[in-house]
Amino acid sequence: MAPAVVIVGGGAIGSAIAYFLTRDPAFHGNVTVIERDPTYRMASSALSASSIRQQFSTPINIAMSQFGVDFVREIGLAEQGYLFLASDRGVGRMQSNHAIQCEHGVDVALLDPAALRERFPWLSTDGVAMGSLGLRGEGWFDGYLLLQLFRSRALAQGVVYHHGEVTGVEIDGSRARAVRLADDSVIPLDVVINAAGPWAASVGAMLNVDLPVRARRRCVYVFTAPGSLARCPLVIDTSGVYFRPDGEGFIAGISPPEESDPDDLPLEAGRATFEEIIWPALAQRVPLFERVKLRNSWAGYYEYNVFDHNGIVGAHPTLTNAYFANGFSGHGLQHSPAVGRGITELIVHGAYRTLDLTALSFERVLRREPIVEINVI
Ligand SMILES: Cc1cc2nc3c(=O)[nH]c(=O)nc-3n(C[C@H](O)[C@H](O)[C@H](O)COP(=O)(O)OP(=O)(O)OC[C@H]3O[C@@H](n4cnc5c(N)ncnc54)[C@H](O)[C@@H]3O)c2cc1C
Repeated sequence: MAPAVVIVGGGAIGSAIAYFLTRDPAFHGNVTVIERDPTYRMASSALSASSIRQQFSTPINIAMSQFGVDFVREIGLAEQGYLFLASDRGVGRMQSNHAIQCEHGVDVALLDPAALRERFPWLSTDGVAMGSLGLRGEGWFDGYLLLQLFRSRALAQGVVYHHGEVTGVEIDGSRARAVRLADDSVIPLDVVINAAGPWAASVGAMLNVDLPVRARRRCVYVFTAPGSLARCPLVIDTSGVYFRPDGEGFIAGISPPEESDPDDLPLEAGRATFEEIIWPALAQRVPLFERVKLRNSWAGYYEYNVFDHNGIVGAHPTLTNAYFANGFSGHGLQHSPAVGRGITELIVHGAYRTLDLTALSFERVLRREPIVEINVI
């Protein structure tokens, strides 16, 4: 039988799954991606900071980025690394992350303040006890291009992109049978995949599944400075503020503390956060940034897994033909190739064949066993 696969959401994750499925010679079905906004105006994949790192604290996230980097190199990767900065308090954690990263083949170096200043003379190391610099496989790329690459290749391989909004799922016992769209049409299916990004919980609810994924606003600020910073990596400051070069200028942002991070805030980037929080931190870390000009800003949603900040990937234990690829909490773009390949293996071969993503399965949420990823930005 040729299975009919319906993917809800055609962002980077949904399109990566569509691409990998239809390039697997053992897959003989058809794939329909249902996307309510083909312009991707609010999709996270179009609004991200488009960066990739190997510096995670869990082996599964490292392995997913190792696979992802080959993909993004294909579209052009500014391979300038990530530089995590730690104060005295953060040194122990940085060292234990370093040990895990080295064990898993990450090319990363720990630098003391003097070594940091020598490599990056523009950096102030006040309050910095140690830096962790990725030497390979980290940097930034065109995230929208990655989405479009998956999408155009999927289309060329026969995937149908259907412009419509899924508003309901018909369920019969332990199986989903069809999706219903806003125009009242019904699309029958053998397999359904939730790739609805920040809106995944509402698709989860249509499947009677309580998915701990929420839309959490993250703002990105674009600024210029009266000069450039030689060999500037993506820097994550001790304050939590990150910045990196972007074209002629830079971008920067910060994740708010949990208590001021409600769900579903409007997608507007308030200037006050830049003026009051980000700029002071930037100026303290890089003296040149005392004289920056804010040029632009945007906001997008992290599809934030409030349970443990990691992806939820794989089939639902009781709804046997429903798969989830949600909750990547700020690292979904770089992990989209690994997710696309992994979900394909599950559907086509019934098990993971390359990288085992079992650690990210839905079961851990039901068992209340979080994966602790320390390096969430
Ligand atoms: C500011 C910011 C910075 C980020 N930086 C990085 C980074 O540096 N590196 C990184 O790897 N990741 C980063 N991310 C995270 C990354 O963007 C996401 O993890 C990733 O894009 C998620 O892809 P997705 O396809 O799941 O979601 P999306 O791209 O949001 O796609 C989901 C799609 O589903 C559609 N949809 C939803 N519900 C329905 C429905 N009912 N019917 C039909 N269609 C529906 C939506 O229209 C949308 O197009 C960042 C995110 C933000 C917001």
